[in-house]
Amino acid sequence: RTVYLNGQFVAEDAAQVSIFDRGLLFADAVYEVCSVIDGRIIDYAAHMMRLERSLAEMTIDYDCSAADWPGILATLIERNGLTEGTIYMQISRGAADRDFLFPAPGTPATVFAFTQARSLVANPMAERGMRIITRPDRRWGRRDIKTVQLLYASMMKMEARAAGVDDVWLVEGDVITEGSSQNACIITPQGHLVTRDLGHHILPGVTRLSLIDIARESGITVEERPFTIAEAQGAAEAFVTSASMFVMPVVEIDGLSVGDGRPGVETMALRKAYIDHARAQG
Ligand code: PMP
Repeated sequence: RTVYLNGQFVAEDAAQVSIFDRGLLFADAVYEVCSVIDGRIIDYAAHMMRLERSLAEMTIDYDCSAADWPGILATLIERNGLTEGTIYMQISRGAADRDFLFPAPGTPATVFAFTQARSLVANPMAERGMRIITRPDRRWGRRDIKTVQLLYASMMKMEARAAGVDDVWLVEGDVITEGSSQNACIITPQGHLVTRDLGHHILPGVTRLSLIDIARESGITVEERPFTIAEAQGAAEAFVTSASMFVMPVVEIDGLSVGDGRPGVETMALRKAYIDHARAQG
């Protein structure tokens, strides 16, 4: 693969960063993941807006508009012949001798990006639906910032796999915050789409945002509010949203089937509508 690192396109084996990089030592870095379908990036503007917000909240001194990001990503897509998959971008506060205090202003950020080819539209999980378990949300209190501090989510995903299911939903008390790397949504028996309201407790998902628009346009009432495990288990349908999963049905929560235990009809219609929206861009 050809990857991007600090202004250059290099072979992945040649891309090297310092052991003093604050991304490595302190998880002092932010990232984005965008999907590519038919060689085109989905919801690009919203991802870049969130990246700029993450940088500002972390006070990482890096001006996104100073680099030609559309050009960088187009080059990565072209050189790697990417038609379907994801693009990962990461920006850290840069390398400096290890110190909890931030390095002096002017320390250059470490910036890189790479592609991952994978099939996203044809995902077998969408046919069978995901089975999830709930686990306490013990991540830090600024989950709205997309930092690379992902260890807790990673550990919980491993627990899910060890328990023989696909993933976890994280909970505070009995209230769901979000999935390990997706936003959590349900369709109530009345047909309303419910997803957690934004704040410091969840990541403002780009897919969540697009889907809320798509749902409202098709006449679905959307409620952004907290919901419990019991409400989700008793919902008509459940699903998650993320850049790489789009809209993915959830058919089981803590051993209880949601609806009839099969991917929901509304969920699959929203999945199709989201993919149509993605394909209509570019
Ligand atoms: N929540 C968390 C914790 C995530 O890691 C992600 C994916 N990065 C999401 C939600 C979904 O966000 P998006 O739709 O922008 O991929």
